Amino acid sequence: TKFTDLKLDPKVLKAIAEAGYENPTPIQAGAIPPALEGRDVLGIAQTGTGKTASFTLPMITRLSRGRARARMPRSLVLCPTRELAAQVAENFDIYAKHTRLTKALLIGGVSFGEQDKLIDRGVDVLIATPGRLLDHFERGKLLLTGVEVMVVDEADRMLDMGFIPDIERIFQLTPFTRQTLFFSATMAPEIERITNTFLHTPERIEV
Ligand code: AMP
Repeated sequence: TKFTDLKLDPKVLKAIAEAGYENPTPIQAGAIPPALEGRDVLGIAQTGTGKTASFTLPMITRLSRGRARARMPRSLVLCPTRELAAQVAENFDIYAKHTRLTKALLIGGVSFGEQDKLIDRGVDVLIATPGRLLDHFERGKLLLTGVEVMVVDEADRMLDMGFIPDIERIFQLTPFTRQTLFFSATMAPEIERITNTFLHTPERIEV
């Protein structure tokens, strides 16, 4: 498979060509086509396999039409740690650089003020740690009823860190019709349970 065989937005193809990517990695070749069809994806992949692009590229393609509304993000990326969320945000900026999509990074240790301002203005993508996202929600600053795509990254680490109840709560706050792209390095029983509960006939890709 070549990137140009995947039905990604031309603006995304341009950005990845500029980033020097030649061919999709196995997780990208497996996850991008069903994600572009709107299907749920369960990706079993370690870090370093290119999994960030495997959810970010189809997400950008899907969101490239349409516009953000105040306080209603169109997409949610949940990460277990601040560092990982910051890395996903950096990658998003690279892949979305030719689009008009906007993002906000919601992580602890940053004042609410700046994050509130971005959310009020309207962002397409929220990249967040689960606790911080729920803090914003509980402060009444955020609606999750406009979420079209929800990504859970490194679910096994979420489990280790005790974030599974937060993740379940966030799933319940988003529309049933959302698309879910869910990634984990391993499939513990608790992770299997969550995916059985919240994913709709996912395409399962293991690399
Ligand atoms: P990740 O597993 O998402 O953390 O990605 C690992 C590294 O591989 C990152 O530095 C990416 O920029 C890079 N990368 C991802 N996909 C590709 C690709 N198709 N070709 C070359 N490098 C890539």
